[in-house]
Amino acid sequence: TDLSLIRNFSIIAHIDHGKSTLADRLIQFTGGLTDREMQEQVLDNMDIERERGITIKAQTVRLDYTAKDGKTYQLNLMDTPGHVDFAYEVSRSLAACEGALLVVDAAQGVEAQTLANVYQSIEHDHEIVPVINKIDLPAAEPEQVRAEIEDIIGLDASEAVLTSAKSGIGIEEVLEAVVAKIPPPQGERDSPLKASLVDSWYDPYLGVVILVRVLSGVLKKGQQIKFMQGGTEHLVDRVGCMRPKIEQLPELGPGEIGFITAQIKEVEQARVGDTITTVKGGAEKALPGYREPQAVVFCGLFPVDAADFEKLRESIGKLRLNDASFTYEMESSAALGFGFRAGFLGLLHLEIIQERLTREYDLDLITTAPSVVYRIHLTKSKNDDARTIELHNPADYPDPTRIDTIEEPWIKATIYTPDEYLGAILKLCQDRRGVQTNLTYVGGRAQVTYELPLNEVVFDFYDRLKSISRGYASFDYEQIGLRDGDLVKMNILVNNEPVDALSMIVHRGVAEARGRHMCERLKDLIPRHLFKIPIQAAIGGKVVARETISAMRKDVTAKCYGGDITRKKKLLEKQKKGKAKMREYGNVSIPQEAFIAALRMG
Ligand code: GDP
Ligand code: MG
Repeated sequence: TDLSLIRNFSIIAHIDHGKSTLADRLIQFTGGLTDREMQEQVLDNMDIERERGITIKAQTVRLDYTAKDGKTYQLNLMDTPGHVDFAYEVSRSLAACEGALLVVDAAQGVEAQTLANVYQSIEHDHEIVPVINKIDLPAAEPEQVRAEIEDIIGLDASEAVLTSAKSGIGIEEVLEAVVAKIPPPQGERDSPLKASLVDSWYDPYLGVVILVRVLSGVLKKGQQIKFMQGGTEHLVDRVGCMRPKIEQLPELGPGEIGFITAQIKEVEQARVGDTITTVKGGAEKALPGYREPQAVVFCGLFPVDAADFEKLRESIGKLRLNDASFTYEMESSAALGFGFRAGFLGLLHLEIIQERLTREYDLDLITTAPSVVYRIHLTKSKNDDARTIELHNPADYPDPTRIDTIEEPWIKATIYTPDEYLGAILKLCQDRRGVQTNLTYVGGRAQVTYELPLNEVVFDFYDRLKSISRGYASFDYEQIGLRDGDLVKMNILVNNEPVDALSMIVHRGVAEARGRHMCERLKDLIPRHLFKIPIQAAIGGKVVARETISAMRKDVTAKCYGGDITRKKKLLEKQKKGKAKMREYGNVSIPQEAFIAALRMG
C-alpha cells in the first residue's frame, strides 16, 4: 500500500467518555460491521469472541475509508488498554501510531486520566485530534470543554470535532479529520524487517495471535522470524488484519499494523515491546524501549470454599494464558488454607483479574490485603553475606535484627475534584503520608498532585477517595521509584498466636492506628469462647493495640430438654474434647467467615 494512504491512530479518553462507542461507530460507518453485527458487538463482546474464534481484546481494526478527496485510505485504529496499570502496554500501542483522537465527554470535561493519556500521546509525538463527545446530553457544555482542552492541556481545540457517538453525529467529520490531520507513517520497504510486537493474546482456535506494527521491510507468510529480545525463532503461518473479522493478507508492509500467527503456544513467548525480524538478513539492532513486565502489587487469592481450590488453579491458569503480565505461585495459609499468591501490574489489574475469576469462572474468593514490593537491605550475618531482597509477602519478612533499611515504592498521584471535596481529600492524602507537590484550579475544579507511598494507596485509598467525593474525584498515578521508609511488620495475634493472613507491613507512624482498627474489627467478628481471648497487634514483641473478648460460660446441656442422659453425656464429652484441643494448640476456633470479613473490609 502507498504509505501516503495509511493512517495509524489510537483513541485516548478518560474512562466512560465514549471511546468504545466511538470506535464502534467508526467501524460501522466504514462498513466493517453490518447493523446487526454492530448490535451484537455492542451487546456481547465475550460471546462473539467465542463464536467467531477471534478475540476483540486488542480492538485494533483496519478500516477502508473513501474520503471526500476521492481516495481510499487504510485506517488502522488501535484501541489502547484504558488504564495506567497498563502504562507500558499503552506506550507500545501509542508508539505504533502517528496520531490519536482525544475523546472528552462534553458534560464531564477533562479528567485525570484524560491528562495522563494525552501527555503520553504527546511524548510519542502524536498529532492529536480533539473530539468532544456526548454533545446530545442536556448537560453538555462543548464550548467550556473546548476551553478546558486549550487551558489545561494546551492543545488547539478550535477545530475539535463535536460528536455524539451514541446517536451517530459527527462520525464522518472524525474520519475526515483523521485523514487530514494525522500524518502517514514512514518506512523503507527494501530494508531488513523490523516489526514491533504491540500485543499478544491467546486464541483457542489460532493459538497465540500477535499484533504487530511493521516499521521497515515486509512481513510474510512462510518467513522464518526471530524475536530479538525473547531469542526464539518461529515460522509465520498467517498474516492478516481485523476488520474486525479476521482477514488474511499476503503481507504486511512498512507502516502497516496487522497480526501474525506463528505456531506459538504461550503468550509468554510473545512479549509486548519485542522486535520481530527475519532469521535471514534480519535487522541488527532491536527497537528501543523494551521492558520486562513487572508486578508491583501482590495479594493472596484463596477460595472461600476449600473444595474450590482445583477450580481456582484451573481458572488462574486459563487467565494467565491470555495475560502474561500477572504472575502466581501456590501459597498456603494456616487461616485460609490453600490458595495462590499473585502479582499484578497495579491495583486495577488486580481488580480486573479478581473480577474475572469471580464473574467468568464463578468463584467465591478471599483476597488478602494487597501488598507492594519492598526492597530490604540485610546486614551480614554469621552464615550469610549482606544482601538485598525483594519482599512480596509479609509472611516472608526476614529476621528483623538483620534489617538495615527498607525501601518502599512511591507514586505521584494526580487528583481532580470539585472544589467542595478538596478539604477532605487533602486530609486523606495527608493521613496517608502524602507530600503535596502542586495545587491548581481549573474552572470550578481543583487539580492536586501528591507524592504518596504506594502501600498507603493499596490500602483502600481509592474507595475512600470515591466515597468522600461522592464519586466526583478522579485519580491517576505513576510510579516514581523507591524511597527509604520506617517500615515494620505488624502481626495480629489471636490468643497469642499470630494469624498469618492478617499480618502486614506498615509504617511505624500508622501502625498503632491500623492495629487498633483491626483488633476492634476482629473483636466484633470472633464469637465469644469459654475463656478470655486477647486480640493483639504487635510489632516484634511489642504490643501496640489490644482488645479482649470476654469469656462466656456456655452450658451446652441447656439445649437438651428432659432427661436424655446419654445425649447429655455425649455433649459434655464433646465440649471437653473441643476445649482440650484448643488448649493443646493454644488456639481459638475462629470461624473462617471472620477472616474473610476482616479482609474484605480492607
Ligand atoms: P469508554 O469507557 O470510553 O470506552 O466509554 P464507552 O464507549 O463504554 O461509553 C461509556 C458510556 O457512555 C456508555 O454507557 C455509552 O453508551 C455512553 N456514551 C458514549 N457515547 C455517548 C454519546 O455520544 N452520548 C451519550 N449520551 N452517551 C454516550
Ligand atoms: Mg471502553
